[in-house]
Amino acid sequence: MNPSDIEFDLRHIWHPYTSMTHPLPTYPVVSAAGVELELSDGRRLIDGMSSWWAAIHGYNHPVLNEAAKSQIDRMSHVMFGGITHPPAIELCQQLVAMTPAALECVFLADSGSVAVEVALKMALQYWQAKGEKRHRFLTLRHGYHGDTFGAMSVCDPDNSMHNLYKGYLPNHLFADAPQSRFEGEWQPEDITSFRQLLLQHHNEIAAVILEPIVQGAGGMRIYHPEYLRQVRKLCDEYQILLIADEIATGFGRTGKLFACEHAQIEPDILCLGKALTGGYMTLSATLTTRHVAETISQGEAGCFMHGPTFMGNPLACAVASANLKLLSDNQWQQRTQSIESQLKAELLPLKSHTTVEDVRVLGAIGVVEMKQPVDMASLQRRFVQHGVWIRPFGRLIYLMPPYITRSEQLSKLTNAINDVII
Ligand code: PMP
Repeated sequence: MNPSDIEFDLRHIWHPYTSMTHPLPTYPVVSAAGVELELSDGRRLIDGMSSWWAAIHGYNHPVLNEAAKSQIDRMSHVMFGGITHPPAIELCQQLVAMTPAALECVFLADSGSVAVEVALKMALQYWQAKGEKRHRFLTLRHGYHGDTFGAMSVCDPDNSMHNLYKGYLPNHLFADAPQSRFEGEWQPEDITSFRQLLLQHHNEIAAVILEPIVQGAGGMRIYHPEYLRQVRKLCDEYQILLIADEIATGFGRTGKLFACEHAQIEPDILCLGKALTGGYMTLSATLTTRHVAETISQGEAGCFMHGPTFMGNPLACAVASANLKLLSDNQWQQRTQSIESQLKAELLPLKSHTTVEDVRVLGAIGVVEMKQPVDMASLQRRFVQHGVWIRPFGRLIYLMPPYITRSEQLSKLTNAINDVII
């Protein structure tokens, strides 16, 4: 790639959470295949990020390529208002079949954040239709649900954009994040803050929203399934809707198809995204029960008030559908299990290191939490020198590799982490 192109990028193109005056370096990727990203100078990096949880089968997959190519030759997009098409129907059939039986009604949208907006709006319209004005959501500290306004309003108030947007965001309720570790002992006092808020405010709460088992961008925290069971029980007791944001955890990442399965609970509304298209393009889905969908439809508006231009985009649906078929055919469970065992063997020993605060592993997720914040730019440079793509943030260095990652490739990722923290 031309140096002038990189100059142009620095000067004119915004990257995620990046300054326009002091941008962090970006690495030019010109192609990707399997678990490798190819830089413009020919270097190949083993990808430890799955492009933020998405590319579960790796890059340039022949099956997904073929799905995209054959769909684009038929029709890449057509409006969803008054029209339907085979890719959307096929995808929704798969989603309804693979998620809990009660989740029957699917709303397709553009991105994870929009799936969360849709879920929040479903809950608000549900209560409106029942003649109750409920305008608050109960959620957890350390949560992250996206960057749009509704989603931002239920992100952790301290480590997200809340401070910047004070006065613009509605005032929701935040329970203390669970402290009981996934594999540790359940501490019953963990649920106290959640229970108190629910008891105090249940008449104004439209829904609870949370990331089941793994809180991602808010700290890569992995918590005890009992917390989730207690939340479900309390929501049932007070008849409050439970929204599970499985945008990051869905489709096998935690070792179960959906993270709610660790606690054997089912949500009333489920948000999916990221790995839905195997990382090929943006698409999300919000699923709910027939009861919620019909209640909304019997409300004042007579319908659910949302309908984006690219709703049900046929190209994205065709790839998503092929991706889910691939998932069901390719032994994701054995693969995530063996990734988990290897991550445990190769990362847990880092716990004894003086600069390391904690190490956590679940499914195909490995997290090394440092005691001090890391210097992202310099660490990233060192990872690239090691031939791996790992993007740390805050005090966290973490891996969520594609499920197709082979053992020696995974070792290259864990060795690189080992080398940079010493
Ligand atoms: N919810 C969770 C749990 C997420 O991890 C993310 C993305 N990091 C989102 C929602 C937002 O998804 P998107 O970036 O596709 O809008």
